[in-house]
Amino acid sequence: MRVIVVGGGIGGLALGAGLRRRGFEVAVFDRDTDVTATGGYHITLDERAQSALTELVEPRIMRRLLASGSALRLRERDAFWDRRGRLLGHGPDLSGSSSVDVDRITLRMLLAEAVGDRLHLGCRVSGVEHDDDGTPRVLFTDRAPASADLVVGADGAHSVVARHLAGGQTNSPAGIIGFSGRTLLHDLSPHEQRRLRPRSGLAVGPRGAALYVGFLDPVGNAALDAPELRMSVTTGPTYIWGAMFPESATTDSLRDLRDVELQTALLGQFHKRGWAEHTLEVITQADPRSVAGFRFNAASTRAADLAPWPAGRITALGDAVHATPPTAGMGAGAAIRDAAGLLNHLTASAAGDTTLIDAINQFETDMRQRGSEVLTLAMKTVRWILATDTTFGAAATAVCTPILAAAARLRR
Ligand SMILES: Cc1cc2nc3c(=O)[nH]c(=O)nc-3n(C[C@H](O)[C@H](O)[C@H](O)COP(=O)(O)OP(=O)(O)OC[C@H]3O[C@@H](n4cnc5c(N)ncnc54)[C@H](O)[C@@H]3O)c2cc1C
Repeated sequence: MRVIVVGGGIGGLALGAGLRRRGFEVAVFDRDTDVTATGGYHITLDERAQSALTELVEPRIMRRLLASGSALRLRERDAFWDRRGRLLGHGPDLSGSSSVDVDRITLRMLLAEAVGDRLHLGCRVSGVEHDDDGTPRVLFTDRAPASADLVVGADGAHSVVARHLAGGQTNSPAGIIGFSGRTLLHDLSPHEQRRLRPRSGLAVGPRGAALYVGFLDPVGNAALDAPELRMSVTTGPTYIWGAMFPESATTDSLRDLRDVELQTALLGQFHKRGWAEHTLEVITQADPRSVAGFRFNAASTRAADLAPWPAGRITALGDAVHATPPTAGMGAGAAIRDAAGLLNHLTASAAGDTTLIDAINQFETDMRQRGSEVLTLAMKTVRWILATDTTFGAAATAVCTPILAAAARLRR
């Protein structure tokens, strides 16, 4: 069976690696010309995503991934703050967690290595269609069309393939504009280092501003202690932060800014909302070239709304179907689990246990459920942040946070 995968992001490469490993004929096409020249910071892989990866890639790739990942069990419990930097509470105990955070670039490089020469870069797909006999065909902007027994769209939130299948967009803006950057722990003042500590944190202020500060240390907190296998882009304790604001003409226009100009504009948005200066040090001290903006897109949280097409020889997975804001850290893991699910159903079909269409149908049914679950979690945080931008939400935040801060002080 020949499979064409459109999109060599996380889900498409994971599928390509698995198909190759199981002996399928596969080609993965991505418009990027270099897998390392990609945006993104850290990706969280929970136990289910890691177990899916174990099926998709060779053990030697998995070992290098774990040697490059930062183990959540080795960091302190997450902290919740208010806009003045007062501690409000903690997240759950992480000592039993098997989740790992890994640089998106590192993960993509390792998956690309697993796909090997079946990955074709610099190939932009312009559409998909069926031949007269029903064979799916992929159209490119600057090369001849290619046919296959099965085409899988893993081309992300603005998927050409899923749009063709659904007859329109599969997601819409979630109402939040996000800005990310990276800051080395050692670039912060001793006071902020002591406050933030080796842990992740989230501060949500009134009027829809939020600041997530994620802690990543693939060296000190390596998930697998094998320095000779390490290939993480992050080489020491680092905060990967995400500033979030409700989408408006003003916040949307910030996406056109770059470097120091963007950094300064972000600080201005927080100042306007009354955030204490020291809580913003993580932004001030960031490498300006790392600061970038993006809009959160989200698909429906209802399983029945996802992949709204009959099963056929063109399908899709990952963000193409269930675009998930990064607020639960589960979008990439879900795309990887989609890839493993599809691989297993295709293997059963190739063995003659089921027809190809039944295999796709089963895969899409599972994916709808999986997509709905991760979207529901991610949208909880989005709705919470947006709720603070209402009159009632702003008042509730202003009243509740000092009480929570006092209670947290008493507990200490
Ligand atoms: C640049 C970038 C940065 C990200 N950063 C983070 C992050 O820091 N943290 C986080 O949790 N999540 C991040 N994400 C989201 C996360 O990677 C996805 O939610 C998750 O990987 C879903 O995987 P996917 O394979 O469905 O889509 P993606 O990983 O988005 O991959 C889609 C791929 O399709 C390719 N593509 C799109 N259209 C075409 C076309 N017409 N022709 C050919 N190729 C095409 C794209 O180049 C891309 O490589 C990022 C996504 C991107 C694209």
